Amino acid sequence: MNQENQKIINGLIIDPIIFTQKFVKACDVCICSGECCYYGVYTDKSEYEKILSVKDRIIKSMDDSQTKNVEDWFEEEQEDSDFPSGIAVGTEVYNGKCVFLDKQGFCTLQKIAIEDGEHKWKYKPLYCILFPLVIFEGKLTIDDEHLNRMHYCNKSINQVSTIFETCKNELKFVLGEEGFKELEEYRNEYFKLNKKKDHEAA
Ligand code: SF4
Ligand code: SF4
Repeated sequence: MNQENQKIINGLIIDPIIFTQKFVKACDVCICSGECCYYGVYTDKSEYEKILSVKDRIIKSMDDSQTKNVEDWFEEEQEDSDFPSGIAVGTEVYNGKCVFLDKQGFCTLQKIAIEDGEHKWKYKPLYCILFPLVIFEGKLTIDDEHLNRMHYCNKSINQVSTIFETCKNELKFVLGEEGFKELEEYRNEYFKLNKKKDHEAA
């Protein structure tokens, strides 16, 4: 913990809300249609360049609901200090969804990686990998603004798990295996402390 009682793992401040925020047990695009991808996403310039380096491969796996015109895939570059390169590039929305979302609700960037035997997140922007988690001003927290727009995973009737439980792979991806173990320890401490506080208040 640092002086302000913030837990920092792998350079990120951990917002303990990730332990308690309710969420679905797993993403299921057959139910939600991948609606978190309806708005496009901001990529870091390096992610944007990686995507363009495999543009022909992406086009091969696109369907007729997507534009194969590469000029229509991205917005103008813009300065943004939240991104490692200092430059963010947004994906465009086409047919009411991110240009990379197919009509079945699958991300073409993830689809091509799986089809080619690569790691499934090889071409996927970090912000897409992490959602409903987000890194905001150095803090690993929840993108509640975007989550509040969802009709499936934000409905309490479907929220039978927590973001921590559902997003273990995403947390390992961003914190590393060791960092994830540290996170589990912090979670245990956090619940123990809160139980003690509740007990004292009773
Ligand atoms: S985060 Fe929500 S909207 Fe996005 S794929 Fe998962 S369940 Fe669907
Ligand atoms: S790049 Fe893929 S995961 Fe990200 S918003 Fe677009 S379709 Fe969704």
